[in-house]
Amino acid sequence: MTARIIDGVALSASVRGGLAERAAALKERGVTPCLAVLLVGEDPASAVYVRNKVAGCEKTGMRSLKFVYPTDVEPAVVFAKIAELNADASVHGILVQLPLPKHFDSEAVLEAISPAKDVDGFHAENVGALMQGNPRFIPCTPYGVMKMLESEGVKIAGAEAVVVGRSNIVGKPMAMLLLAQSATVTICHSRSKDLAFHTRRADILVAAVGKERMITGDMIKPGATVIDVGMNRFASGPNAGKLCGDVDFETAKDVAGLITPVPGGVGPMTITMLLTNTMESAERTLK
Ligand code: NDP
Repeated sequence: MTARIIDGVALSASVRGGLAERAAALKERGVTPCLAVLLVGEDPASAVYVRNKVAGCEKTGMRSLKFVYPTDVEPAVVFAKIAELNADASVHGILVQLPLPKHFDSEAVLEAISPAKDVDGFHAENVGALMQGNPRFIPCTPYGVMKMLESEGVKIAGAEAVVVGRSNIVGKPMAMLLLAQSATVTICHSRSKDLAFHTRRADILVAAVGKERMITGDMIKPGATVIDVGMNRFASGPNAGKLCGDVDFETAKDVAGLITPVPGGVGPMTITMLLTNTMESAERTLK
């Protein structure tokens, strides 16, 4: 069997097309959706993410504000900016790019963002709402995965779903979303015994670990849907330095029924869902 590939680039373009139409409709009613992004420090990967988020806003007819601070900025300066943005009715989404420098209390920074503008969905109030099955903002990466499953018509209710990874930004919310749609969910992590025993039972397997090609074809149930969230670099070999996932695509594609590639799978969907959350926030102001 050769798996069908879920094209995250094409799905992302289609979702963004819909967002551009919604942005135009909002503008006619006097509202321009606006995302404010705060970046602290010089981490090159963070700078690229922020650039892509800002560009994504511009291409879909949304406004963006970008605030860049040096690594040694006083946290009070960043907190003051967040307070100002919380109070600004023309701003619908606020995002602080992680990771923050060591002298910052990241949790306190995330909690300072108004839950009504927390488009990353990381504020405790929004995490709680997601747990209760009544989410206000769904964290972008798992939200993108759910969109992919929906677009492919993957049956979730009753399915065995296995999520490998239990981080607050991917693994845990991913598991909650699958549970909310009535999958039977197993969460695996670094202390799980016999990972392959679990993954081989999965009708839907989501890998969010951060370890190059750790899920191999022999760990996958024939016909399963395999979603690879991982973003790693090949450590060696002819592709050294190039992007790869947590799933060994070459062996997995011969066993899975549906699979996401890396690059071109979950990655493009993440920023698209950030834009979606910002749009939803802006639309709420008119309700
Ligand atoms: P974290 O490092 O926060 O979490 C990794 C998780 O993997 C942990 O729960 C850890 O377990 C678990 N883990 C580590 N080793 C093993 C193992 N051998 N077997 C089973 N589980 C293991 O990472 P993130 O959740 O932030 O990200 C995961 C991956 O997804 C990364 O590659 C990241 O780059 C990528 N990513 C991609 C995004 C995208 O847009 N495509 C967005 C966000 C992340 P434990 O809790 O026990 O330590």
